[in-house]
Amino acid sequence: QPQKVRKPNWLRVKLPVGEEFKKVRKLVDQHKLHTICESGNCPNMGECWGAGTATFMILGNVCTRSCSFCAVATGRPPEYDEEEPVRVAEAIKLMKVKHAVITSVNRDELKDRGAEIWYQTVVEVKKRSPETTIETLIPDVKGNWDALHRMIEAGQEVVSHNMETVERLYRRVRPQAKYARSLEQTKRTKEYGKRTKSGIMLGLGEKPEEVYKAMDDLVENGLDILTLGQYLQPTKMHIEVAEFIHPDLFAKYKEEGLKRGLKYVESGPLVRSSYHAERHVNV
Ligand code: SF4
Ligand code: SF4
Repeated sequence: QPQKVRKPNWLRVKLPVGEEFKKVRKLVDQHKLHTICESGNCPNMGECWGAGTATFMILGNVCTRSCSFCAVATGRPPEYDEEEPVRVAEAIKLMKVKHAVITSVNRDELKDRGAEIWYQTVVEVKKRSPETTIETLIPDVKGNWDALHRMIEAGQEVVSHNMETVERLYRRVRPQAKYARSLEQTKRTKEYGKRTKSGIMLGLGEKPEEVYKAMDDLVENGLDILTLGQYLQPTKMHIEVAEFIHPDLFAKYKEEGLKRGLKYVESGPLVRSSYHAERHVNV
């Protein structure tokens, strides 16, 4: 086990400030809405909400998978709520979200992987907020490519699927996922004609050469946008941080990613997969 290391000062959380933030916060509280920003205690809330970006989670809060870094509960999810697409769309309108990121748990038990709810959600958001751009951060469809097409055909601007880590660490980090299958999902998303995005967490013990290999694999499979951020352990039950990556190495990764053919790389200790998402809608 790696030795316990103290959090370096570049990971100190920025406090949420600003009028826009306060306004959004009040709306969220009043209407009992759920955002990943809040439930994940994201360090970027002040900045993102101030810029009109927020992340919503659909299809419930119980996941069929058990990724070792993730704080979402694992289990058999209850029936999904068919009214959810409308509720999310109303919330996005109410919050005047300019760029909405929508994500979900994995619903491996559903034949369609939740694709119909995904489709309806994007349709309802576009209906009520035609100016709002949408990024869908979708789960691994486990090779159900019809489900993938349904998830991505409703007019969202960006389709994201996170690799999360390098190939060697998949078994420890994402036991129910497969590196090659996630790459194929990106490839098929690109072939379908969508702007593609992915994210990798750093500090899990990966080596730079492994990160570069992942970048090359992603470029080869049609990836446009990549986010790189520091993994932080949500509780003691989760996989430990192996290393705090220095900001200089994050900067180097960004440079390398662009050199290797990615169109846009967001890289830094506090970067989360939806961080600055409004900036790369049109790359
Ligand atoms: Fe929300 Fe993502 Fe921004 Fe964090 S980085 S506040 S989760 S939109
Ligand atoms: Fe968490 Fe997603 Fe893994 Fe489910 S599939 S445990 S929500 S990271």
